[in-house]
Amino acid sequence: MSSFRELFGADPEVSAEAPGRANLIGEHTDYSGGFVLPVTIPQRTRVELRRRRDDTARVHSVQLRRTEEYRVGSESARHDWLDYVQGVTAMARPRPLRGFEARIDSDVPPGSGLSSSAALEISMLRALREAFGWTLDDVRLALLGQRAEVEFVGAPVGVMDQMASSLGSPRAALFIDTQSLRTELVPIPAGLGIAVVHSGISHDHASGEYRVRRGECEEATRALGVASLRTLTVEDLPRIEALRPPLDRRARHVMTENARVLEAVEALRAGALERLGALLAASHRSLRDDYQVSVPDLDRLVALAAEAPGVFGARLTGGGFGGAIVVAARPEGLRASMERVAERYRAQTRRTATVLVPR
Ligand code: ADP
Ligand code: MG
Repeated sequence: MSSFRELFGADPEVSAEAPGRANLIGEHTDYSGGFVLPVTIPQRTRVELRRRRDDTARVHSVQLRRTEEYRVGSESARHDWLDYVQGVTAMARPRPLRGFEARIDSDVPPGSGLSSSAALEISMLRALREAFGWTLDDVRLALLGQRAEVEFVGAPVGVMDQMASSLGSPRAALFIDTQSLRTELVPIPAGLGIAVVHSGISHDHASGEYRVRRGECEEATRALGVASLRTLTVEDLPRIEALRPPLDRRARHVMTENARVLEAVEALRAGALERLGALLAASHRSLRDDYQVSVPDLDRLVALAAEAPGVFGARLTGGGFGGAIVVAARPEGLRASMERVAERYRAQTRRTATVLVPR
């Protein structure tokens, strides 16, 4: 592994980090302006950076063992990892910016639903903010990262990942109202541990289904004549259930999930961990039955985790159709307990589950 000095012949001027994230509860609500409650994970991305006098950007990824170059101000998409960096500098205009050398190192596993992309964007933006003296608060920084991913990389993502990476804190969950962008750090009680276990199922058709779900939500919004699905409450249930299938189920998921996020915040504050676990379990059922984004082996992994000693509740996290589950449990022996869950899952499904958190 090459150091910054070995790569670029001088020491870095600044160094910045940003974590990956897992969503505790509030799934498929962000594109309807709803509520989400992500937590940061211990894995993070680190960027070391040094300004240059010209406008050449030279960027090294330790994980990919590659150094790539482009001209700041002449960014153009290449459809590879460098687009995340180019997107950031393209969106940074008109802030002061020149060329730079950067070394990216990360232990956030890419493509596992822990948002290595946001960790990369936010750590890069933090390094650039410091090196070039930008005045840019953490919310605006998150929005810049999101724009880089939506407008430059071309991934239609909500704002949760970048907000979580930019504003999150280790022993707290971050409540986000994705419409107003109001955020609140909710401390995680000492008796609560959080695990993330990857199902070993790659979510290949997830992006296609994601688009379909977004379209269904837009259609339900129009049919109900509301500004967004986030305005729905239990009182709207009769109207929701009168929608044509499957819009009825989709809208019901969004409405009930938003209510569960608010309840989960209260449960965390009150230290009501059994209650929190029940909310996670209800979220999973709603994602499985109403939003229809689960698959049988993911349901199996959730069920096995829920049976493990000390577990309060579990659910799929992320877009669905595979990916990871999030588990709320007593912190003692959590990793070993999840390793046993992974063993039983393998025996039943022949798939390899990986415990990503705790490390
Ligand atoms: P996720 O955010 O869930 O991990 P994405 O597909 O959104 O998955 O982002 C993963 C992509 O981000 C990788 O394919 C790569 O292009 C880029 N990326 C993330 N971390 C790094 C890294 N350390 N070095 C280079 N590229 C990275
Ligand atoms: Mg991502």
